[in-house]
Amino acid sequence: MTNRVSLTKVTSHDVESAVRKAVELAGGLDELIGSLSRVLIKPNQCKPSPRHSGCMTDGDVVEAVTKLVLERNPASVVIGDGAIAGYDFAGFSTQESFDSSGVTEVAERLGVELRNLNKDSFEELTVPDALVMDTVRIAKTALESDVIISVPVLKTHIRTHATLSLKNMKGVMPGAEKRKSHRLGLDMAIVDLCTVVPPHYAVIDATVGMEGLWQAPQDSVEMGLIVAGSDPLYVDMVGAALMGIDPSQIMHFHYMGEREGKRVELAAVDLVGERIEEHRKVFTMGFDVFQSRYPEVSIVQGESACSGCTNELVSAITYMKQAGYGEQMTGLTVVIGNASDAGTQGKVVALGKCAADLPGASAYVPGCPPKEDEMVRVIAKVCGADPEAVMTTMAEARKKLWEASSDLLER
Ligand code: SF4
Repeated sequence: MTNRVSLTKVTSHDVESAVRKAVELAGGLDELIGSLSRVLIKPNQCKPSPRHSGCMTDGDVVEAVTKLVLERNPASVVIGDGAIAGYDFAGFSTQESFDSSGVTEVAERLGVELRNLNKDSFEELTVPDALVMDTVRIAKTALESDVIISVPVLKTHIRTHATLSLKNMKGVMPGAEKRKSHRLGLDMAIVDLCTVVPPHYAVIDATVGMEGLWQAPQDSVEMGLIVAGSDPLYVDMVGAALMGIDPSQIMHFHYMGEREGKRVELAAVDLVGERIEEHRKVFTMGFDVFQSRYPEVSIVQGESACSGCTNELVSAITYMKQAGYGEQMTGLTVVIGNASDAGTQGKVVALGKCAADLPGASAYVPGCPPKEDEMVRVIAKVCGADPEAVMTTMAEARKKLWEASSDLLER
């Protein structure tokens, strides 16, 4: 591992050349991958989303990385991920994520196995000197790999500010462990996870990034960049800086730096290629966008609040508004996580298992995460809206989204 990180620009839509140049500038893969290596390429396939929206690592970047790996004739190569906690059902599965990002097609064309890690078998490991997770269950595919290449997409995150190559490793845990990591404290849990399954190389897909509430297309940010390097912490620091986030403000960077004796500041990175200053865009954070986009709704978050509930809430509220019920949501408070008190009276909806015991809630949506349909129905009822009208709006919006996605896939 070195502190060298490369930043390259995608020109003329040639993603492969930009990835090749980035990996070469960062020192190449020759020392990492040999003929006996068993390689796992781990993209971020968190939830089915339109291509080039910045929500998932795109097939073009996965293809370029996979080709570089295959050229070294390793013993085996697997592309694998497991979608976010609580998901993997028809209409919202890891397989649909692979399909919509173009990764399925890439794996087929290159003859590489594609694996849904949520359906893998798992082994429980003890985390030495754990911060919060004494034990963690990990997909066997990751444990049986000598080399793990983390290939995240450039995104902000509502809990951890940024989600990059270190946080991307969450995909090797089963859903229950992903949820546990949120409850225990996500930033520390990421460091515990990366202690037992460290990524050995990182390539960030910064072709299109994503800010705010991860709603496509309004939260997509065109960047046209690739970041690469053999030390995921330093690579992630450059990724954060590109989004206008001070790396020292990201707690899992801080804990990882402490654990590995590294300074969490850009001055510690040997950056080659493009200059950050010429490409930096200030990404907006999820809750800032939430407040500006949905001023009528207040969110109260407890310590254990995680993106499982938040993602579902954002889409439920979006469809309420699209169905014309924006005004009816005025005064609505939604509680996520283990908050002890909603701090208000009136329309209070408690979301998910974490908020099950909230005193004074007008309504509760069970589940971990709760089902979106159920959340829509409960919120609609509390606000005096017609749940069926909201559900119809939701179905129509989804259909349009998928039609837009298949257009992109055919390009
Ligand atoms: S109930 Fe919601 S906030 Fe709590 S762990 Fe489950 S998804 Fe996350």
